[in-house]
Amino acid sequence: MTTISNALQAVRQRIALAAAAAGRPAGSIQLLAVSKAVSAAAIRQAYAAGQRAFGESYVQEAAEKVEALNDLPLKWHFIGPIQSNKTRLIAENFSWVHSLDRARIADRLAAQRPAGLSALQVCLQVNVSNEPSKSGVAPAELLQLARHVQALPQLKLRGLMAIPAPTGDPLRQRQAFRQLRQLLEQLNAEGFQLDTLSMGMSDDLEAAIAEGATIVRVGSAIFGERQKA
Ligand SMILES: *Cc1c(COP(=O)(O)O)cnc(C)c1O
Repeated sequence: MTTISNALQAVRQRIALAAAAAGRPAGSIQLLAVSKAVSAAAIRQAYAAGQRAFGESYVQEAAEKVEALNDLPLKWHFIGPIQSNKTRLIAENFSWVHSLDRARIADRLAAQRPAGLSALQVCLQVNVSNEPSKSGVAPAELLQLARHVQALPQLKLRGLMAIPAPTGDPLRQRQAFRQLRQLLEQLNAEGFQLDTLSMGMSDDLEAAIAEGATIVRVGSAIFGERQKA
């Protein structure tokens, strides 16, 4: 077995154990393999080991890999910051976007989604209290953005995403993920029917699953450490 195949198996095992500990079926958590800065050849190895959903953060790099791998039935998820001049490539190449945080970007993605494709599946990125980057809608503005996106037929609002600050403290990890889950519950209490919590990465997926993650986004635990920029 290749290293990638072994690593994938180990991550699946971590997900299964965390799900069991939370009393959740393992099948309720989808593994998104984050393949930014990873070669098309490595993605083929992950595909051969059964992985179908891949997450990318850089539009140009991703578009090249989507093209190079278009012989495989892969699902591509965009998880990086969205610049307005890159929305067309995202609308044309991806099934999911996890990092939507502005109405203007939502409007562009909707207008540019090709008519022949099904609705773009969308999570709103939320700046939970300790998110390190400037990305993400503020919790106080989330409801308004959710209503805006919900009204766009080319987009299908599925849930929320967050990237909490890294911390080795499992209680603090859970606190941030719990905040995102509670925001999702508040939206559903307002009449939304959201089913997706995109949260948890290589170092904190157990805490995310304990708080209800339905998609975990895992890169380095599958493909190895990236070069730090
Ligand atoms: C890189 C990245 C990940 C994966 O992080 P790892 O720590 O390598 O698992 C997940 N989500 C987003 C948004 C990322 O940019």
